[in-house]
Amino acid sequence: MLLECDTCSAVVKAEVLISYVDENPYDWVDSTQYTFCKCPQCHSPILASQEYGMSAGEIDWSSPIKIYPANLFYINPVIPFKILDSLKECIQCYKSGSFTATVIMCRRTLEGFCIEKGVKEKNLDRAIKKLKEEGAINE
Ligand SMILES: [Zn+2]
Repeated sequence: MLLECDTCSAVVKAEVLISYVDENPYDWVDSTQYTFCKCPQCHSPILASQEYGMSAGEIDWSSPIKIYPANLFYINPVIPFKILDSLKECIQCYKSGSFTATVIMCRRTLEGFCIEKGVKEKNLDRAIKKLKEEGAINE
């Protein structure tokens, strides 16, 4: 099972130790499988979940989602697509230790947010102040 190991900062083929299916007694398709794994390189524990349902035209378990250790970053699913790309790239830069690139992508994400909110100030500092004046953001 391919999962991201936070300790190794890499996607690893996690060794499955045990799985448990939490079956919905009224609708089996609405079941969740929890799989406890360990990283083959550093032996850190990893817990993943999978939902049962349609995947690529077939009913099967979804791709595993790591639930422990919890992700450092939570991305709100309603973030507009263009901002989401910048934010994901920002997080990737951070995880890979490219901190200058992280700052650049943070700025790009903030600029995208300003544009999304209709603020067209070229200076980011002034754009953020305008967002605050308009109540789009708080302290
Ligand atoms: Zn590891």
